[in-house]
Amino acid sequence: MINIQNLHKTFGENQVLKGIDLTIDSGEVVVVIGPSGSGKSTFLRCLNLLEQPTADTLSFEGKDLLAEKNNIDELRQKMGMVFQNFNLFPHMTVLENITISPIKVKGESTAEAEKKAYDLLQLVGLNDKAQSYPASLSGGQEQRVAIARALAMDPDVMLFDEPTSALDPEMVGEVLSVMKTLAQEGMTMVVVSHEMGFAREVADRVIFMDEGVIQEEGQPEEIFNLPKNERTQSFLKKVL
Ligand code: ADP
Ligand code: MG
Repeated sequence: MINIQNLHKTFGENQVLKGIDLTIDSGEVVVVIGPSGSGKSTFLRCLNLLEQPTADTLSFEGKDLLAEKNNIDELRQKMGMVFQNFNLFPHMTVLENITISPIKVKGESTAEAEKKAYDLLQLVGLNDKAQSYPASLSGGQEQRVAIARALAMDPDVMLFDEPTSALDPEMVGEVLSVMKTLAQEGMTMVVVSHEMGFAREVADRVIFMDEGVIQEEGQPEEIFNLPKNERTQSFLKKVL
């Protein structure tokens, strides 16, 4: 589904990504771990071209993301993104937050968009909050709305950038549980997270990133039980 070869990203003099190679299959759940500043967010942002990288290959569903002729807006719609800070529209209800893009960008009818929104609210456990405003929700509820909003665009892959890092500890579980459900339903997911329990349980593959490269990748058991790379070992010692 996603094919990345020799991806680089530089900000001024700062070489942040120094040759990332990765392929992600449909239905795969890839969890990206690594120290702060190692380029994890930049990597995710390059995947949906919120940052413009260079690469030998950067393709999504067989289409070259770096080719001018391909419609980036259309491709980007197929990639849902969930950030640390949920960025809901404060002046809109939960329902409006979820339906606005399907209506404005995809041209869905209000009825169609609202029907789907209620299904998604059911999925994230918030069917009673459709008419609420973001300010009246907890952080965990806001993040679940943000996930529903991303799903409303019918993405083929979901990118999560530390979706639980801004949450009070008691709300982390409810968000991870929604993500786990999504994974079980077969959604392709790339998740930057410090939640090692989630990575262990849900990831098909764990990527350890440091210094702008993938230092090590493997199944969760390999990475967590028998890390080969010295940097992986010392990182895991600090976080586990
Ligand atoms: P991580 O998510 O792993 O903590 P980031 O991808 O956020 O790391 O950042 C990696 C490096 O890229 C940092 O040195 C950061 O300062 C730099 N960086 C990220 N975004 C920008 C930007 N928009 N402009 C300049 N430097 C950036
Ligand atoms: Mg980050």
